[in-house]
Amino acid sequence: MSTKPKYIILLGPPASGKGTQAALLHDHLGVPHVASGDLFRYNLKNNTPLGIQAKAYMDKGELVPDDITIGMVMDRLSRPDCEDGALLDGFPRTIAQAEALGKALAEKGQEVTRVLNIVVPDEILVERVTGRRLCKTCGASYHIKFKPPKQEGICDLDGGELYQRDDDTEETVGNRLRVYWEQTSPLIDYYQEKGILVDVDGNQDIAEVTEALKEALADL
Ligand code: ADP
Ligand code: ADP
Repeated sequence: MSTKPKYIILLGPPASGKGTQAALLHDHLGVPHVASGDLFRYNLKNNTPLGIQAKAYMDKGELVPDDITIGMVMDRLSRPDCEDGALLDGFPRTIAQAEALGKALAEKGQEVTRVLNIVVPDEILVERVTGRRLCKTCGASYHIKFKPPKQEGICDLDGGELYQRDDDTEETVGNRLRVYWEQTSPLIDYYQEKGILVDVDGNQDIAEVTEALKEALADL
């Protein structure tokens, strides 16, 4: 592996498996997992001004405005642990966010290394969203059917209580998918034109998706 910083983006609709795969891949890549949704949820839990601003958008399944989101993620990326790169999950989600990221990296003589586009049909995503459960303490992601914890309601990793996200409901998922197709999917062409996008079939077992992602990164 080269020592050049690696900025890898996991692109994909809600519940396509970005968080699950990032947790399995970031050690292998030697870069931190930076998830915009996790950063928002951390702010929400701690009632910060940013969390209070973001809540109304998140509850409706809308995107939080670009200026708020870009500021939050850039602040995270400027920390020392991201010097060698990051595995980005859920950011960028708009062309404006992608341009801001590209500009910030270019200022440091860096660039996005690869974009992994996780492809899953919409009808599969609805069941993934409604069955998702997260650990209250470590954020690990489970699914009541596809990835159940060993003991119901309890995290395998740290014994934390599992909960359902407020936005993981049947009512919100339709809007989140619409928002993905309208505002985020243009990033597929955007990064394809730059020649750095690889499609990965996300509609297979979790371990098979991990293998496919590793293969798509094997030359880095
Ligand atoms: P995202 O971060 O893209 O929103 P998650 O990684 O949280 O998605 O996955 C969404 C839900 O689907 C979780 O409940 C997770 O356990 C489950 N899941 C993830 N990958 C798969 C897969 N390949 N097959 C079945 N279920 C999956
Ligand atoms: P999912 O796991 O379903 O892909 P996330 O956890 O990434 O969802 O995001 C949850 C919510 O947080 C989004 O519906 C949106 O309101 C907000 N959010 C996360 N990332 C972004 C982003 N890059 N731009 C705008 N809003 C975002």
